[in-house]
Amino acid sequence: MTYKGSCHCGKIAFEVQGELTEAMACNCSICQRKGALMWFVPRDSLTLRTPADAMSTYTFNKHVIEHHFCPTCGIHPFGEGVDPKGNKMAAVNANCLEGVDLSSLKVQHYDGRKA
Ligand SMILES: [Zn+2]
Repeated sequence: MTYKGSCHCGKIAFEVQGELTEAMACNCSICQRKGALMWFVPRDSLTLRTPADAMSTYTFNKHVIEHHFCPTCGIHPFGEGVDPKGNKMAAVNANCLEGVDLSSLKVQHYDGRKA
């Protein structure tokens, strides 16, 4: 199925193909601040519907993950990176998707502070 996602003001809008059944809550320094519920998909499953330069990008630590956010409303709809095998991945913030019953998701708690 196709999910529609966006930031709050709509400057960043995208679609994601896949079946969202579980998401990850991470307690690392950035995920906890964002309150993000991450859904990992192959980067090819995500289609950006707005210009890429509408997004601001934040990186830190090893700079391997690009945390995209909206410079206008400040919401972080997704990030981009590579998995351990080198595949391009997107970490979609499930909280930014339309029509998702968040309470039905199986949430894995990841201890990103120790990792
Ligand atoms: Zn926005």
